[in-house]
Amino acid sequence: MTDFDRKALLRAAMKAREFSYAPFSKFYVGAALLSTDDKIYTGCNIENSAYSPTLCAERCAVAKAVSEGARHFVAIAVVGPEDSETTPCGVCRQVLYEFCDESLVVLCGGTESHYMETTLGELLPKAFRL
Ligand SMILES: [Zn+2]
Repeated sequence: MTDFDRKALLRAAMKAREFSYAPFSKFYVGAALLSTDDKIYTGCNIENSAYSPTLCAERCAVAKAVSEGARHFVAIAVVGPEDSETTPCGVCRQVLYEFCDESLVVLCGGTESHYMETTLGELLPKAFRL
């Protein structure tokens, strides 16, 4: 993965963040998932008055990708507030693991210049898989 890819993925996540629907938490998140065939699938968090149906940006991106036939990924960027290094929640880590292995690159940030790079394996050690 090149620096250009990282920046493009972070920019796509930042654009998706603009569509975040978070009237309750005001915690706006965007995600951009890069497939092995170089397509980017974006998502944003979508909150709900009943709370439980709330959808995280990462799962939104995974749902878009899988529903369009993509099942193999190399990286995901997740951006929350600009000064943050927002990481995927536990549920999203498990959902990502369904389609990825430990080597998935995870860019956790706020902007294309402020982010932390890790892997799914570091975020979800000894993950569950049937
Ligand atoms: Zn989540």
